[in-house]
Amino acid sequence: MSETFADVALPLALARPLRYRVSEDLAARVGPGCRVVVPVQGREMIGIVTATGDAPPAAGRVREIIAAPDPGPVLDRELLALARHLAWYYAAPAGFALRAMLPAALYSVGRPMVRVADGALAREGAAGSGRGGPAAAALARLFRSPQRAVALAAVRRAGGTAGLRLVHRLAAAGEAELITLSPRTAAPERRERFFELVTRYEHLLDLERRFARSPKQREAYEALTALGGRASTRTLAQSGVSASALAALAAHGEARSVSETRLRDPFAELPPSPPPARPTADQQRAIAALEALEPGGAALLFGVTGSGKTLVYLRYLRGVLAAGRGAIVLVPEIALTPQTVARFKGVFGDDVAVLHSGLSDGERYDAWRALREGRRHVAIGARSAVFAPVRALGAIVVDEEHDTSYKQGEAPRYHAREVALRRAALSGATVVLGSATPSLESWTAASRGALRLVELPERVEARPLPPVEVVDLRAASQRPGSGAVAWSERLDAAVQGALERGEQAMILLNRRGFSVFVQCPACGEVWTCPNCSVTLTYHRAPASLRCHHCDHRERPPAACPRCGAATQRYRGVGTQQVEEFLAGRFPAARIARMDLDSTGGKWSHHRILEQVGAGTVDVLVGTQMIAKGLDFPRVTVVGVVDADVALNLPDFRAAERTFALLTQVAGRAGRGPLGGRVIVQTRAPEHPAVVRAARHDVRGFLESEREERRDPPYPPEVALLNGVLSGTDERAVARAAGGVVEWLHALLAARPALGAAVLGPAPCPIERIRERWRWHFLVKAPDEGALTRLARYLAARAPVSARVRLVVDRDPVSLL
Ligand code: ADP
Ligand code: ZN
Repeated sequence: MSETFADVALPLALARPLRYRVSEDLAARVGPGCRVVVPVQGREMIGIVTATGDAPPAAGRVREIIAAPDPGPVLDRELLALARHLAWYYAAPAGFALRAMLPAALYSVGRPMVRVADGALAREGAAGSGRGGPAAAALARLFRSPQRAVALAAVRRAGGTAGLRLVHRLAAAGEAELITLSPRTAAPERRERFFELVTRYEHLLDLERRFARSPKQREAYEALTALGGRASTRTLAQSGVSASALAALAAHGEARSVSETRLRDPFAELPPSPPPARPTADQQRAIAALEALEPGGAALLFGVTGSGKTLVYLRYLRGVLAAGRGAIVLVPEIALTPQTVARFKGVFGDDVAVLHSGLSDGERYDAWRALREGRRHVAIGARSAVFAPVRALGAIVVDEEHDTSYKQGEAPRYHAREVALRRAALSGATVVLGSATPSLESWTAASRGALRLVELPERVEARPLPPVEVVDLRAASQRPGSGAVAWSERLDAAVQGALERGEQAMILLNRRGFSVFVQCPACGEVWTCPNCSVTLTYHRAPASLRCHHCDHRERPPAACPRCGAATQRYRGVGTQQVEEFLAGRFPAARIARMDLDSTGGKWSHHRILEQVGAGTVDVLVGTQMIAKGLDFPRVTVVGVVDADVALNLPDFRAAERTFALLTQVAGRAGRGPLGGRVIVQTRAPEHPAVVRAARHDVRGFLESEREERRDPPYPPEVALLNGVLSGTDERAVARAAGGVVEWLHALLAARPALGAAVLGPAPCPIERIRERWRWHFLVKAPDEGALTRLARYLAARAPVSARVRLVVDRDPVSLL
């Protein structure tokens, strides 16, 4: 009788799956796409079967699969093929690709257990020389008390492979019960303590007076304010707020402590928002163009901000669903776009599964199962939703396709847009990539005919795009009293006007914190992170210096550690400082801030956006978060405090990023009948990214940027790979980088047909992160296939020692 073996991909950095024996009794449950539990490196792990066959492993000890917890595969053929593609294209271990595709709960390493019916082992033992005889005797001791469940690992230790087979056989005969690892799904009800502010000091002066002698309480008060007036004790503790200061606020009646059950998922309760009644003529044309796509076909929906792309997606997908197929909608960082989700719920109701980052592992697994079992047909989510197990997939929409959050930062370093195109090709589905500022990749693909270009050239109801005024910060008159904040009279007057008319304003500054760095005025010393080669950012509420790369935190210095000078200068303005300035400048305005630090809990962004929608916030200050897809018709003024933040970064995408950010944030203005205007402050008013954004000239920018990337060539002109070497020993990293590049040169010299070139090595722009020194090199190849080969060579064979890590980042979105 022939034996069966299975290749199992494990979430480990292994070049290939490991081969295990499948016992006869498990054979029916073990096939491609199934979860199995196997022994590896002295423990048990969950892996996915990628293939089965009758060939034993070429070398080494043959081990046996311990359990197969599910009745069938967790991945179908298409998704398995997609995993193979991911591993291949991104030169990543198959086990990592598979893990990225499945909910985390499926990898929870619960211990597989077994319970054996009374007397079953005794009967086996009595059968004497029968198959299970000796093993039964060994196991009998283990199962002395019959109701006791025993770990399969213990069974294996006591009775070996024969023991395992025996229990599987008993299980098949109904005489043993395998307690398998179905993931825990229900989220436990939890109570949480919150502090909320009762008293608000509207004026800085009152605040100063009240807390003159209690700086700790002031810190606590300001922290609570910054967190939206309410935060869990856990969040407050994490931000370093003292419990006694909170208690003191409560004793004064200025805050109160409340206990509540864990906040419910607001996406579950999101009121659906009904779609507009009828598409415009442009929208109708766009819908028809999408409906004409062949299976496997893809389109770029290039529609200006406010052109009504969402309605086009909705109408198109309604047809897809009516034809009995399912759909995936990708949006960037979903916690931030409740409006979009509400619109989809307005059309598809309970047919939508929202896969957002706030879900617990169990909730995520439930949503995954609902899709897989065909109880829901539409998945909406961020990057990883591209792997949602939607049945009979008919279409994938990638909204804001230019967004960099679609790229995954760890292996497999995939880009959801690329994965969407590949998955659609495998499933015969269509793809719609939507944006007002298409990525250069998609734009080029459209010009080459690989994507069908579908345009919405105008805003709905013929609303004009808002005029953009560029203010040259080098020459403009500053508003008196604005201090370090770049705040021109022009921007000031615009915001003031909006407030007087009862309208809303958005103020963008793509820099978190209060001050970007701290410098000693006497000796010039700048505070840097002990783990990374970046300056520490000064944060208010509570006061601390923080690293934005490794989250290192320290107290602001009382004196300069080098020269002892007692005062420090806080330089470079961040969102917190803008917020504080605005609060002083417009004391009657209700101001909210939205950035990574304003997350007072899972749903604080929701709350802030709700307030903007309800009109209880007058000015919203924030980072790029406020530029993403928001649709508030009462926003009539958008101000960009400093357009140059990312313009001079040493990254070939710096101009593209800046252009997209400016165009997107400008697109938040004038979305209603009130109209709007945009004021962009910059020190580089002649930069093409600024000039073209001010003219809403997306096409012009894309075309000129394409020219820029021809020489020296950068994507999409060539295929690019960023190789990053890192380690704690600076010299070893530099040496390894030199070694790998030399090896690459030799490789390329031997294979001139690849037509590839290597640049570097050089230290990364950020030379050190989390105590690791970093060097990198670039590989440019004329086509995708050549780069795939090189990426795989690199991942498999590059000469690096164990002390240095090599990361192969294909199609990188950032070179920092
Ligand atoms: P985009 O994503 O292209 O920036 P949205 O899809 O958010 O634009 O639509 C912009 C605004 O126009 C929304 O408030 C939407 O409700 C409205 N809108 C879209 N289509 C229509 C239509 N056909 N008739 C009336 N209003 C519409
Ligand atoms: Zn750091």
